[in-house]
Amino acid sequence: MTLTKKRETRPATASWGLSAGGIPWEYAPAPEATDHVNIEREYGLFIGNTSAPSRPRKTFSVINPATEEPLAKVAHASKADVHRAVTTAREAHRSSWSKLSGRERAKYLYRIARILQERSREFAVVETMNSGKPIKESRDVDVPLAAAHFFYYAGWADKLEYAFPNREPQSLGVAAQIIPWNFPLLMLAWKIAPALAAGNTVILKPASTTPLTAYLFADVVRQADLPPGVVNIITGPGEIGMELVRHPDVRKVAFTGSTAVGKMIARAVAGTDKKLTLELGGKAANIVFDDAPLDQAIEGIVNGIYFNQGEVCCAGSRLFVQESVHEPLIAKLKARLGTLRVGDPLDKNTDVGAINSAGQLAKVQELVQSGIDEGAEIFQPACDLPERGFFFRPTLFTGVSQSHRIAQEEIFGPVLSVLTFRTPEEAIEKANNTPYGLSAGVWTEKGSRIFKMVAAMKAGVVWANTFNRFDPTSPFGGYKESGHGREGGIHGLAAYLDVSGDGANTR
Ligand code: NDP
Repeated sequence: MTLTKKRETRPATASWGLSAGGIPWEYAPAPEATDHVNIEREYGLFIGNTSAPSRPRKTFSVINPATEEPLAKVAHASKADVHRAVTTAREAHRSSWSKLSGRERAKYLYRIARILQERSREFAVVETMNSGKPIKESRDVDVPLAAAHFFYYAGWADKLEYAFPNREPQSLGVAAQIIPWNFPLLMLAWKIAPALAAGNTVILKPASTTPLTAYLFADVVRQADLPPGVVNIITGPGEIGMELVRHPDVRKVAFTGSTAVGKMIARAVAGTDKKLTLELGGKAANIVFDDAPLDQAIEGIVNGIYFNQGEVCCAGSRLFVQESVHEPLIAKLKARLGTLRVGDPLDKNTDVGAINSAGQLAKVQELVQSGIDEGAEIFQPACDLPERGFFFRPTLFTGVSQSHRIAQEEIFGPVLSVLTFRTPEEAIEKANNTPYGLSAGVWTEKGSRIFKMVAAMKAGVVWANTFNRFDPTSPFGGYKESGHGREGGIHGLAAYLDVSGDGANTR
């Protein structure tokens, strides 16, 4: 698809820096080595600690979105495979995992966390090759945070009765966990760590475009000597995810992904006694007041929307700027965009990697075109994109109005929509004018204003003078169409336990 309005371009500073004399200089390539990574030609379903083809044998291909080259074939699970995985997980819960003391479960979780740390380079490279995200993000964010989740929940495993005093917390049984493609390993950790700490067994279904770190994690499960059937991983299309959700022996469903699929899952679970956590889309407001330190805010804005190519459910995709600082802030932001390096995700200098799939790239292009058609002003820095792969320039829209699709719909790409406001009340009104409610950001020097804004925002997480900060101890989740339930912290643990005291939810 071509964009029909000419881009505003500047001298080619993207992928360039400026030396002290103001002369542009280019970064030398700094590609991460891949020779220490072993990607198998074909991955089978991981059920009961063994890897085996689906029955009947069927596979699909997984590609590198930065090169469009095939990486591996993975098993396409059948309905019978889903049943086998659930039966195996149920038996593992009954015969081994639920019988272990919390202290013993904790040892396994600590072991997994340490192995993830030991193998972090391998995980970072595979994650980047399969998802398109820059290696500096998978290396410095995804993998360390995944290990941190296992460490954190290992700490809770033997303290459940202190976490929920007088409630006799009980594990639920088999948990079905469906995760998306934007943070494949991190979402796996968010789901598996609390489930195991609470004494459940799991079946994880990764997204079809990004299953490779999940299958690498299967190797960690074996290495950590987890009892067979405690962690099971199956791959296949959305329907296979739905089979898993509907299976009568599943006691808990945890889903992260689009609001549309989240609603389908909510309907499938309605009327059953399955516990459900939904972490869905977002359209976060990042609000900059005129007293905010602008240079610091620029970094927060860039991190908020261009981190992980904007493929982040809590991305700060709507920027609200107080009118009096709109002009200088936009000038600084455009200059900063010109310094973002777009390209090979395996290069350690890359800031913006590849979009995860051709389908997602088409969605981003379509929404950007709608922004142009509806009259917003587009800015993209001049930078060369690789000839192959699903790349998209960091994009900024000014002159956006509340009714534009780019102000209302989740784009899930490196596209920022800028709007303005005059008073805090107007900012609150506009920021909350969205069907979503996952996250928000506030930039101001005034502490009292931070408290006022945080209390008024209809969002599960509000960052003040920062953005996109994650910690395993902190609950994360949404309001409205962003879903319900919380992951992380003690709240994330409660989602995998029956704390009613009467064992009504366990089987
Ligand atoms: P989906 O919601 O379709 O995918 C998320 C996960 O759900 C994947 O594992 C997917 O499997 C699975 N799935 C798909 N259909 C079903 C179903 N009927 N029943 C059970 N599981 C299902 O997201 P998309 O990949 O289609 O992305 C579309 C949009 O969703 C994005 O553009 C973005 O706006 C939003 N999104 C939000 C995310 C978030 O973190 N909140 C994450 C990803 C996307 P499979 O991969 O095999 O289809």
